[in-house]
Amino acid sequence: MSQSKQSIGAPLLEITNLKKHYPIYGGIFRRQIGSVKAVDNLTLTLQQGETVGLVGESGCGKSTAGRTILRLTDPTEGSIRFEGQDVTSIRGEKLRQLRQNMQMVFQDPFASLNPKMMVGHIVSEPIRNYNRIQEKALTEETLQLLERVGLPAEAYYKYPHEFSGGQRQRIGIARSLALKPKLIVADEPVSALDVSVQSQVLNLLQDLQDDFKLTYLFIAHDLSVVKHISNRIGVMYLGSLVEIAATDSMYRSPLHPYTQALISAIPVPDPLKRKERIVLQGDVPSPANPPTGCAFHPRCVHATAICREVRPQLHQAAPGHQVACHLYTT
Ligand code: SF4
Repeated sequence: MSQSKQSIGAPLLEITNLKKHYPIYGGIFRRQIGSVKAVDNLTLTLQQGETVGLVGESGCGKSTAGRTILRLTDPTEGSIRFEGQDVTSIRGEKLRQLRQNMQMVFQDPFASLNPKMMVGHIVSEPIRNYNRIQEKALTEETLQLLERVGLPAEAYYKYPHEFSGGQRQRIGIARSLALKPKLIVADEPVSALDVSVQSQVLNLLQDLQDDFKLTYLFIAHDLSVVKHISNRIGVMYLGSLVEIAATDSMYRSPLHPYTQALISAIPVPDPLKRKERIVLQGDVPSPANPPTGCAFHPRCVHATAICREVRPQLHQAAPGHQVACHLYTT
């Protein structure tokens, strides 16, 4: 597996200071008494043809970020620009048209496929919804999509339960491609699959990227999964990006103590290349009550007084390598 051969182009998606907060209500009058800051000030640009891996422990807000970017849920604040157009608060027909260009591949292929529908209808449903082509051409196009994701023509007339996990994910991928989108947000697309099947699905996604000129935002909790397919990797902690860099730079010299811990946890087959694992203490704090200053400070062995008081901002520590940590500010 290697990164996409596509050339990286102009910005496709520009996310600026994106927030998604969920209100918490309490008391006898059910007033708002707080909020869960699932996504807090996320700024990220995806170039055309690029794959950006977005990683972090569960509960760090990466899936909510993906859903907010696709406008499956409304952002609380911030802006989302797609191909230079502000799509942060568009609605109705404009949003419907935008959805053709932005699709999602879900983690659990079984839960995201209607068990009562034939696979052919599941895959062709988006095209039918947009009324793009005649029925005969639709069937032909659906069969081509199935073939392109490595499924036989007979799959058209079968139901999701007749397939393995890997094949079901291929069905989900075929459906996400049906409208020829420009951006795919893949939310943990291989984490529910056996390890032996994961690399097949990752290879398929890479081949499709070149053929369909796709841009991917690839969400994962496991850094080793995104390593081989991402041009850049962003690490999220408690709703915010704490580090973003080109993949090589991120693995060679991770700067943020949280990223260093995540990378040290990746299994290394060669015993001579193994480094000491950094074991993180404690759990991710609640996004309803985040720590002051640097959100990582209760778990960080390098924390000092400034870390407990001042929230570090993402800044450039090396060319193309940004980190939010006081260790790298002068
Ligand atoms: Fe650790 Fe301080 Fe850096 Fe946060 S800002 S990661 S607490 S050293």
